[in-house]
Amino acid sequence: MSLWTPHSWRDRPILQQPSYPDADALKRATDTLALRPPLVTSGEIDTLRAELAAAARGECFVLQGGDCAESFDECRGDIIANRLRVLLQMSLVLTHGLKQRVVRIGRFAGQYAKPRSADTETRDGVELPSFRGDLVNAPEFTAEARTPQPLRLLEGHALAALSLNHVRALIDGGFADLHHPENWDLAWMQHTPHAQAYARLVAEIENAVGYFETLSGQRLAHLDRIQLFSSHEALVMEYEAALTHAVGPDHYNLGCHMPWIGMRTAQPDGAHVEYCRGIANPVGVKLGPGLSTDDVLRLLSLLDPQRTPGRLVLIHRFGHARIEDELPGLIEAVAASGHPALWLCDPMHGNTQTTGDGLKTRDFAHVLGELLAAFRVHRQLGSRLGGVHLELTGENVTECTGGARALSAEDLKQRYRSQVDPRLNGEQALELAMAIATAASD
Ligand code: PEP
Ligand code: MN
Repeated sequence: MSLWTPHSWRDRPILQQPSYPDADALKRATDTLALRPPLVTSGEIDTLRAELAAAARGECFVLQGGDCAESFDECRGDIIANRLRVLLQMSLVLTHGLKQRVVRIGRFAGQYAKPRSADTETRDGVELPSFRGDLVNAPEFTAEARTPQPLRLLEGHALAALSLNHVRALIDGGFADLHHPENWDLAWMQHTPHAQAYARLVAEIENAVGYFETLSGQRLAHLDRIQLFSSHEALVMEYEAALTHAVGPDHYNLGCHMPWIGMRTAQPDGAHVEYCRGIANPVGVKLGPGLSTDDVLRLLSLLDPQRTPGRLVLIHRFGHARIEDELPGLIEAVAASGHPALWLCDPMHGNTQTTGDGLKTRDFAHVLGELLAAFRVHRQLGSRLGGVHLELTGENVTECTGGARALSAEDLKQRYRSQVDPRLNGEQALELAMAIATAASD
């Protein structure tokens, strides 16, 4: 195999990159980015790898979730805190139902770039570059907004730092303290159909914590704090390369704990796989319809030749209609290779539909259906689904249809805010967690 360097990806075919008109401006921005303080440390990354190894052994469950695309405008304290609340609520429900620790990975603090189906978009005869996320350009349909701006790489990094700083401060300040789960209630959630079930569960946990603390005469101090890891799609390679640092003999991407390779850029010979194979972070890879067994086995041997526990996370996303046909072959091929994979199910990206009004949506029943099928298929084959990868928000948006409130395509117009893909709102996310807890403990 050829020698890896932080820049060896430059010699490979590369997809989904912006064309920056000014190469000098790009170089100035990436040179500056490389000098900025890291967002995470190699020690934290090693901790996550150990956690993922435990998940692969069946000792804990991974909850990875956040926006499809974060936007610069929504780097706001309330939005960040609400997202953290939903992730905490979901992990409480999952821990209770699965009787297992939950490893939380936010899809945030750097999830600013998006792959697109076409490089350009044409409206009324005018052709402009596609919107590739706030890290690259702006969504308005003008030539100025759509021109990729290198300074956005620095802005995205700074906003990722602000987001992480807020999450870290909230956690350090006791926001995630399991002695006070009542603090995680979202105001509008009191009116949700699941409020009662959730309140019962919170009361049960409070009782259990109180019981153990009385028995032992000690405060369970480790319940005060949690770890929350960050992840984003490693897409814009100039950004990822600039955040790559040598730590001892290894190279780490210090822009997040766990980057993942998207389905559109997972070619074994491509630049994204080449970059990811050399970094010491745990790496995710999305696996979807049309992928050959041969490609999957090549990805395994390229990305994890030593079979390091916790190194590789396989995230399948087939859609509810295809999962039962496609997943068994994938699981069997990976099992036959002897690879100790950690499997996550992304039940979002294979279930996207467009409404008559042109809004992208997903139906809650399809999302849940794919997830339940994933649990079932893994179990039937003696494998294990080790976690979920979701697009969600703590805001009361109307982007996915269905759920306990049976949102219709018509309802979506009320509060549709996503810049790219539709997210589960807080209520739908909690409902999904409850369904997972029931399915997995069956
Ligand atoms: C995503 O996670 O937002 C995404 C684009 O997913 P995929 O690469 O699986 O299509
Ligand atoms: Mn998405």
